[in-house]
Amino acid sequence: MSLIVQKFGGTSVADSQKILAAARKAIRAQQQGYHVVMVVSAMGKNTDLLIDLANQITDHPSAREMDMLLSTGEQVSVSLMAMAIQSLGHNAVSLTGAQIGIRTDSSHTKARIKSISTERVQRLLDAGNIVIAAGFQGIDEDFNITTLGRGGSDTTAVALAAVLKAELCEIYTDVDGVYTTDPRALPEARHLNRISYDEMLELASLGAGVMHNRSIEFAKKFGTRIHVRSSLSDADGTLIGSLPESPDHPVCGAAVLKDEARITILGVPDRPGSSLDIFSRLAARNISVDMIVQNVGEQGKADISFTVPKGELAATLEAVEAAAEALGAVDVMHDDQVAKVSVVGLGMARQTGVADKMFHALAAASVNIQMITTSEIKISVLVARDEAHAALKAVHKAFDLDKEPPRNSVATSSADAAAALNAEEVISHLRGVDMEELVINDISLDESQARVTIHGVPDAPGVAAKVFDEVAAAGIFVDMIIQSFNGIADEASLSFTVPKDKFDESLRVADKLTAEFDCQAVTSSPDIAKLSVSGVGLRSHTDVAIRSFRSLGEADINVEMINTSEVRLNVVVDGKRGTTALAQLQRAFADVLR
Ligand code: ASP
Ligand code: MG
Repeated sequence: MSLIVQKFGGTSVADSQKILAAARKAIRAQQQGYHVVMVVSAMGKNTDLLIDLANQITDHPSAREMDMLLSTGEQVSVSLMAMAIQSLGHNAVSLTGAQIGIRTDSSHTKARIKSISTERVQRLLDAGNIVIAAGFQGIDEDFNITTLGRGGSDTTAVALAAVLKAELCEIYTDVDGVYTTDPRALPEARHLNRISYDEMLELASLGAGVMHNRSIEFAKKFGTRIHVRSSLSDADGTLIGSLPESPDHPVCGAAVLKDEARITILGVPDRPGSSLDIFSRLAARNISVDMIVQNVGEQGKADISFTVPKGELAATLEAVEAAAEALGAVDVMHDDQVAKVSVVGLGMARQTGVADKMFHALAAASVNIQMITTSEIKISVLVARDEAHAALKAVHKAFDLDKEPPRNSVATSSADAAAALNAEEVISHLRGVDMEELVINDISLDESQARVTIHGVPDAPGVAAKVFDEVAAAGIFVDMIIQSFNGIADEASLSFTVPKDKFDESLRVADKLTAEFDCQAVTSSPDIAKLSVSGVGLRSHTDVAIRSFRSLGEADINVEMINTSEVRLNVVVDGKRGTTALAQLQRAFADVLR
């Protein structure tokens, strides 16, 4: 019999009427012939209330006791849900994470799922029950109660859907799906009927708060289809699944992260190991680093910039100042008045002009771009915080995201069927491996590109647009783009990679632009190697960049450029070191390469 998982978030079970409404939805699905597993969050703001209570007792509650406390929120709602179903004349059994057998590691308040046993749930379903699982919780090896982190019920739901091989995982919430951007920020945001796993992963990590990031990692890994929909209506929501890219619409969404801070370390000795030193110090403090921009140095010195959430600036500066001193860097600068604006879309990798279009839109809105990084499915720029809204609005419009979205049907595609078939294979493939373990599918080497860097580009609105107009006019397809802040007011460095056979042409364009803008210099390399590590969990497992830096450093290979996304890490090194770099990375990730 087909199985469906229905997850109800806190607002969807906030009072007894809502609990009864959710119960009716589950009963209806059962009457349509499904086995039904419900996953339920704590009622309303109960988790917040519990946290508040703990904080009234102590400023430093122990993580273990926090989990003991917070897990009670879900225990309240599952029992009430079971009573609701029973009162409507149907059979239901509620289960805690421990009773199901959701095994996690022991990192309290942010535990990762290792395994889930299906035997008891299956038995209860076969006996005609609706099974109601407490979201967000599990147990470690010693039977300590753990929780998965705020919003973790989504992850429970998708993980259960994966192991039970559900046909669909429905996420009932207070919004009717995923939008092209946050509709509270931009009223012209449009509802998306479909979105791919990779796009959703990027948008979720960019603060499109609809779903817990790790739940999408599960879905992608196991090919689980997700339907995010409103608990208040029967309207179709957004289907998250495999999706062929849309040639007419390379961009599916835009997002802004407002509370960012930029840190720049100037004059870092441009040699293997420097980045490793900096970023391992940050990892040791559990600081999640974003938007790393490392530009090719002049005279053996590089500038490294990155962003962190504004709230982590103080801790970051402490760590970075120590690193700068140890490395003999020239200076550390920071700016806490910045925001990151990104566009996401599967189709952009194979299209020219997506980045250029974004730069144009920003130029037309007189927004200055402070930093740029591009990856296969995402372009991010850093702008002043007070320009972030204008930037988002301009970009959203430039990609026609305010018009009727292209993906109009929630109908299943053949790609979904393929993904579902794949689930079986993935499960057997992953047997014996923790469910939320990092998975690397591919490590590849691209030796077809060259690099051009223009140093001392004016840091003013419209410059990036102009540069990439010229480049496009010369028929050159640009792959990676990195613009960094180089410490001098009103100046930036702009690097981009191009096909080798367009190298001379690209240099000519760069020289012309340098003369026109009175830039300092052009440096270049006719022969670079781009290495890409792709998989699932690249950012939730924060050590991926560090592992890469370490393995390349061991072979004395210098990283010239880097960018990271949820699904891929790209590094550029000297072309002569490409094969060695590939071998190093393969060795570094051998344990998680599947
Ligand atoms: N109740 C937990 C929270 O509020 C888990 C969840 O709602 O997903 O974070
Ligand atoms: Mg929630």
